[in-house]
Amino acid sequence: MTDLDVVVIGAGFAGIYAVKALRDAGLRVAALEAGSGIGGTWFWNCFPGARCDVESKDYSYSFSEELQEDWSWSERYPAQPEVLRYLHHVADRFGLWANIQLNTTVTSATWDSDRAQWAVVTADGAARTARFLVSAVGCLSASSVPDIPGLGSFGGAWFHTARWPKEGADFTGKRVAVIGTGSSGIQVAPEIAAVAGHLWVFQRTAHFAVPNRNAAVSPEADAAVKARYRAYRAQARESMLGVPLTGTGKSALEVTAAERAGAYQEKWNAGGGMPFLGLYTDLLITRKANDTVAEFIRDRIRETVTDPAVAEQLCPRDYPVGAKRLAQSDDYYAMFNRPNVTLVNARTSPIVSVAASGLRTADAFYELDAIVFATGFDAISGALDRIAVTGADGLSLKSAWAAGPHAYLGLMTAGFPNFFIVTGPGSPSVFSNMVLSIEQHVEWIRDCVSHVLGEGASWIEPLAPAEEAWVAHTQDVAYSTLFPLADSWYVGANIPGKAQVFSPYVGGVGPYRAKCDEVVANGYEGFALAYNGTR
Ligand code: NAP
Repeated sequence: MTDLDVVVIGAGFAGIYAVKALRDAGLRVAALEAGSGIGGTWFWNCFPGARCDVESKDYSYSFSEELQEDWSWSERYPAQPEVLRYLHHVADRFGLWANIQLNTTVTSATWDSDRAQWAVVTADGAARTARFLVSAVGCLSASSVPDIPGLGSFGGAWFHTARWPKEGADFTGKRVAVIGTGSSGIQVAPEIAAVAGHLWVFQRTAHFAVPNRNAAVSPEADAAVKARYRAYRAQARESMLGVPLTGTGKSALEVTAAERAGAYQEKWNAGGGMPFLGLYTDLLITRKANDTVAEFIRDRIRETVTDPAVAEQLCPRDYPVGAKRLAQSDDYYAMFNRPNVTLVNARTSPIVSVAASGLRTADAFYELDAIVFATGFDAISGALDRIAVTGADGLSLKSAWAAGPHAYLGLMTAGFPNFFIVTGPGSPSVFSNMVLSIEQHVEWIRDCVSHVLGEGASWIEPLAPAEEAWVAHTQDVAYSTLFPLADSWYVGANIPGKAQVFSPYVGGVGPYRAKCDEVVANGYEGFALAYNGTR
C-alpha cells in the first residue's frame, strides 16, 4: 500500500482546495509546500502594493456557502495580506492544517508502472509514495531574475517582487531602481516612490494600465453580494473570464467614436481591467477595434503625465491592449510627475551590468542603494521544470515539454499516468478568474480519481491523439485572437531560450467547462484506463 492516495504539490489556492476536496472524498492526501506558510503566490508576493486585480467577491472560493457567508472582504480589490488572511481562515475553518506540510520542497516525482504509484522525494531526502500526483504549483511561481553580469558584486540590497522578504524592506531616503513595468512593477513602484530619495524606473516595454478605483466594501454592499451569491457564481461559471461582465454585445467599430469614448470613460471611471476588455465583442479580436481602446488609454496617460516626452515613452505601442495582462493602478502614471522619479528607457539604453555601487546601462551609470526586480516569472511550466518529474518509461516532463508545455484539457499529459495539473497548459487558467478555474479543475480531478478507483483501474492517462487535437484546438482559438501578438510570458517570450508556444486556452471558462463535462459524460473520452498495470 502506498503512503498516501494523493500527493499535492503546493498549498496555494489550488493546493488548499485540492486537500479539502480530496480528503472529503475519503482519500489520504498531503500537500507538500516549499514555503514556510500557505498561500502560494500570495505568500511569496508580499511586496508593498501587491493587490489582486480581480474583485474580492470573485476572487474567492465558491465551494462552501457557509464560507461565503462568514467571510467579509474589506476592499473591492484585496491587498496581499488580506488574501493571505482569507486562506488561513479557510485552512482553519475546514481543519486542513494536518494535511499540509510546510517547508517541504518537492525535488522529484517518479512514476513506477509496476507498482502503479508515484515516488515523491523532497529536499530533506524524505520519500513518499502515492497513487496519484496533483500539481498545484501555480502558473506564476518560478520567479525570473535576468542574468545581468556583476549582480553578485552589488553592494546594496536587491529583491525580486515574487521573493519579497517577510520582514519587509525599507527604502526611506534610498536610491532605488525598479526593473520591469508589468503588473508587479506597476504596483510596487508607487509605494517605493512615496518614500525613496530617488526612484529610477527601468522600462523596456511600456505597459497598459487602467485605474483600480479601489474602495472599502460597505456592510450594505457585502450583504447585497451575499444575498445573490449563488446566482452570481452560476453566472461566473458560464462566463468567458470567470467573472460576470456586462458588455455592450456590440463591435467597437459599429458605434460612433463619441459613443465609444463615452463608454470607455465610464469604464475608466469605474475602474478594473476585465470590464474594459469585455465592453465590445471585438476588442481582443481585431486590431482596428483594439486600436480604439489603446488610443483612449494613451490619451489618459498624456492627460496624467505632465512632461509630454515622459508621457510618450509611457504610451505602449508594441502590442494590443490585453495581449499582455492589463495592469491596474490608481497612481502609477501620476507617479512620474514626482520630482524624485525618473523613467529610464531600457529598450534604447539596455541594462548591461551591475557594479558594487550601481547599475550600468548602454549610456549611463546609476548610483544605487537597492535594486528591485519586477521581472516576472518563468510562467506556466517553470515551476514544474524545476522538479524532476519522470513518467512512464523514464520520460521526463522537461523533455516531453521541450517544444512547449501541453496537456489534454490542460489537465493531464500523455506518458504521465495518474498525474494531474491544476490550471495546466491548455486550460483557461491565467485568462480567467484563477480561483474559479482552480475550483473547476480540482473538482474534475477529484471525480476522475474517484472514477479510476471505482473502476478498479490502476491508472488513467490521456491518449496522445486526443491531447494533440486539444492542443491544435487551443492554438486555433488563440490565433483567432490578438493574444499571440505580444511577446509575453503567455508564450514564454520573456525567458531567453524558452520554446514559444501560446499555451492558455482563451475560448472562455464556460465553453471550457462544458467540454470537460462532455468528456466525462462520454466515458472519459480521450483518456485510457489501465487495469492490472497494463498500458
Ligand atoms: P511581467 O508581466 O512578465 O513583467 C516583467 C517586466 O520585466 C516587463 O516589463 C519586462 O519587460 C521586464 N523585464 C524583464 N527582463 C528585463 C530586463 N532584462 N531588462 C529590463 N526589463 C526587463 O511580470 P509581472 O509584472 O511580475 O507580472 C506577471 C503576471 O503576474 C501578470 O501578468 C499578472 O498575471 C500577475 N500579477 C498580477 C497582479 C495582480 O493581480 N494585481 C500583480 C502582479 C502580477 P518586457 O515587457 O520588455 O519583457
